This record gives sequence, structure tokens and C-alpha cells, in this order.
Amino acid sequence: MKLIFLGPPGAGKGTLAARAVEILSIPHISTGVIFRSAIAAQSPLGIKVKAIIDAGKLVDDETTIALVKERLAQDDVKTGYILDGFPRTIPQAEALAAFSEVDTVVNFDIPDSIVLERLGGRRVCRECGRNFHVVFNNPKKEGLCDYCGGEVYTRDDDRPEAIQKRLEVYRAQTAPLIDFYRNKGILVDVDARPPVEEVVENFKKALGRG
Ligand code: AMP
Repeated sequence: MKLIFLGPPGAGKGTLAARAVEILSIPHISTGVIFRSAIAAQSPLGIKVKAIIDAGKLVDDETTIALVKERLAQDDVKTGYILDGFPRTIPQAEALAAFSEVDTVVNFDIPDSIVLERLGGRRVCRECGRNFHVVFNNPKKEGLCDYCGGEVYTRDDDRPEAIQKRLEVYRAQTAPLIDFYRNKGILVDVDARPPVEEVVENFKKALGRG
């Protein structure tokens, strides 16, 4: 099953993807995780994208499309994947259609007020990229990831100025993808407001597995 997870930053796409990987046994590909790993490794890609990402802006389409095209050419994604954070623009969606056929686009629907609350308290594992939250999902050991023991930190782009910018960018450049995929008849909506377990159930129902 080839899935896209669509929705604003803070909708819970990454958290849900980690659960969906267990349910569906397919790899999770997050362009945000790939970029953050490149930044941590100070690779040429990381050096190129750091300032853009910290400011809450989008990396250019050409760079992002090339990265995903290369990843989707690998053997482990032949039968399925979850694309989280890609596509984020219409040109990215058009490029994707030329190299992979997506089955379903899951649109995580959530108002800005909840997004702001979630992103302000979000913490991320530096090693495995899992998400936590200071109120809703605190790691069992302060500052350490429950899954791999890595350091849990606040992303630079989860600062208030960058959050505002990311929401603006989402509304202007990514939200048009909702109609793009709805018109193709492959979009399903999932209410992302409830606690994680309920969203997991909503997600399974949307895929006809509830
Ligand atoms: P995310 O972890 O999905 O919130 O992504 C973090 C940041 O990485 C975004 O705010 C963008 O700066 C960049 N990014 C991730 N995916 C894309 C994409 N598909 N197109 C452009 N920039 C992206």
C-alpha cells in the first residue's frame, strides 16, 4: 500500500506514521527526518538546507524531488510506503505521479489553534526521530527517548516565529494538494484532533481496516 500523509505541521503525521509502520509493515519516509539527519551529519545537503528549514520555509522542489525519487527507487519500498511531508507543493505532486503510483492520500484535518499548542510542546529524538510532547506524551526518562535512549530536544523550527511561518507556508503551498488529490478520488480525511489512540482508530477505519 502506497500512502501519502498530508496535513499541517503538528497534525501528528510523524506520530501516526510510527504506528502505521507497525500496523501495515511498510517503511516510513519522512523528508523532514532525512533533512534533519543531513543537517546533523553536516553533509553538503544539510549545509544547503539548514537556514531554510530553521526559518520555516520550504526546501526547493528540485532538491526535494530528487531526494524522494532516489529513495523510492530502493527495493524496500517496491510494495508500499508512507510518504510523510512529501509532496508539499503541486509541482512535487506532479513529479511524484511520474515515478510512483500512490494508492491513498490521508488528509489529517486539524485547526491552527491545536497545531500551535502541539508544536509549542513538541520534543524530538535526535537519534531515531520519534516525537514526544511535554504535556501529552512525555518521555519516561526526562530528556531521553523511550525507544532508543537518544537525546530528546526542541526542533529549531518549532520556535514560535518559525511555527507561524510554517503554517503560512502550509496554507499557501501545501493545502492546495487537498483538492488536487480529492479530485483524483484517492483522498480520505482523518480527524486529527483527538488523542493519538483515537486518531489511530480513525486512520484504520479510513483505510477500511477498522
Ligand atoms: P517536517 O519534519 O515534515 O515538518 O519538515 C521540516 C522541514 O523540512 C519543513 O519545514 C521544510 O523546511 C523541510 N521539508 C520537509 N519536507 C519538505 C518538502 N516536501 N518540500 C520542501 N521542504 C520540505
